Amino acid sequence: MIPPICAVCLREAASVPDAFPLPLLEHLVYFADYEADPEAMPGQPQGVEWFCIDHLEAAKASSHLPTDRALRIIGVRSWLTQARARSITREGER
Ligand SMILES: [Zn+2]
Repeated sequence: MIPPICAVCLREAASVPDAFPLPLLEHLVYFADYEADPEAMPGQPQGVEWFCIDHLEAAKASSHLPTDRALRIIGVRSWLTQARARSITREGER
């Protein structure tokens, strides 16, 4: 199994346990290109990634897509959310 590191923000469950509050396997998302291939490289299955609690919902919402596309969408969405939060903070509208 791949180590639990969020595919979007790269936080590790081992060093940031607060970002992985659910039972660990619930932080795992299977995407459309997931293949349960016993011949695949051990520990590095295709189409399955870990997500911290902040990115888990977006990942699940995109799990009907292949991993690469989903990660791009989640990454962009996460960046937009952060940018929006920063601009709101700057405008003092919290
Ligand atoms: Zn994350």
